[in-house]
Amino acid sequence: MNMNRFVYADNAATTQVSDSVFDAMLPFLKEKYGNASSIYSIAHEAKFAIEDARKQVAEALGAQKNEIFFTSCGSESDNWAIKGAAQLGAAKGKKHIITTNFEHHAVLHTCEALAKEGFEITYLPVNEEGLITPQQVADAIREDTALVTIMYANNEIGTILPIPEIGAICREKNVLFHTDAVQAVGHVHINVAEQNIDLLSLSGHKIHAPKGAGALYIRKGVRIPNLIHGGGQEAGRRAGTENNAFIVALGQAITDATKDIDSKNAKVAKLRDKLIDGVVKTIPKVRVNGSMEHRLSGNANISFEGIEGESILLMLDMHGICASSGSACTSGSLDPSHVLLAIGLPHEKAHGSLRLSFGENNTEEDVDYILEVLPKIIQRLRDMSPVWQA
Ligand code: PLP
Repeated sequence: MNMNRFVYADNAATTQVSDSVFDAMLPFLKEKYGNASSIYSIAHEAKFAIEDARKQVAEALGAQKNEIFFTSCGSESDNWAIKGAAQLGAAKGKKHIITTNFEHHAVLHTCEALAKEGFEITYLPVNEEGLITPQQVADAIREDTALVTIMYANNEIGTILPIPEIGAICREKNVLFHTDAVQAVGHVHINVAEQNIDLLSLSGHKIHAPKGAGALYIRKGVRIPNLIHGGGQEAGRRAGTENNAFIVALGQAITDATKDIDSKNAKVAKLRDKLIDGVVKTIPKVRVNGSMEHRLSGNANISFEGIEGESILLMLDMHGICASSGSACTSGSLDPSHVLLAIGLPHEKAHGSLRLSFGENNTEEDVDYILEVLPKIIQRLRDMSPVWQA
């Protein structure tokens, strides 16, 4: 193992807690640890800090403060939004949900659970670039459609979907619209009011807050039922003693993440493009997955013929490079990525895919190092691969 170099290129899986986030949250673990519902001063301080964080999240999304509800993660937010909208719809006899075939499992498995309860799910197929058109959504909406749930940006191939256009269609047709924006927040300009979004999920650990803090935006007037019942926290809509420190962290993280989106994207996209360029020029039989035009600035997803993504990951790790094949949640499974199958890759190519996801902490030197190591790894694995030899 090369102990001298460490390159973290898996920012779509999770991110390192930043200094500003760490500094903001620390007092709420040590001195200001009060239960926000209690009446003494350390509790009040926590309560005020939570409300400040709510304001920070609202401002970052173009929402009102009372439209933001803190949760434990992106998966919880997705579950709450989709199950809640389904219940609202069912009460009016509407049991049809529209989504895509390449959502995160927090959305897909929730839809599958609802299908078992009698909901009908339309899975819009993405094209070979990993995109859908607003017209596909318009054509799929029916009288009994309760919800459209479509991700803002894909976690594996980084494609950015036409969310403002889809929002406009849903609003015109009076159908609730939820977007899983876990990968988009901090990378794409989001304004829930202008983009006609009714429900939006986000997660702190993708934007340099710790794991365990998320939020759901619920447009004022959308009365989805609670997912978690209990105490009166979060305006009575999400029970559970507030995670003061992590909520403060999320507020700081989203403020930082949405401050200079364009300049950060420009810097990170340069790294991504340098990496993709270098790989395409030095390694034969590769395929870059997903649209290059509508793409998150940090995402590079590349398939290598004749070898397994997992072996590439293990060898990269031996060189101190952290990357991913498919989504982190599904690694360990031998099934090929559903996202890569959705864009039409055959099983063998889907198996040989690598995701490198850069963030603002990465440098040109990181990319140079990956470009030094990766071609040798691919060559070595191909030399050992009976599939490649064939
Ligand atoms: N949605 C997308 C698009 C994601 O990428 C992820 C995490 O990878 C999630 C939802 C789940 O978020 P969390 O890990 O906070 O539950």
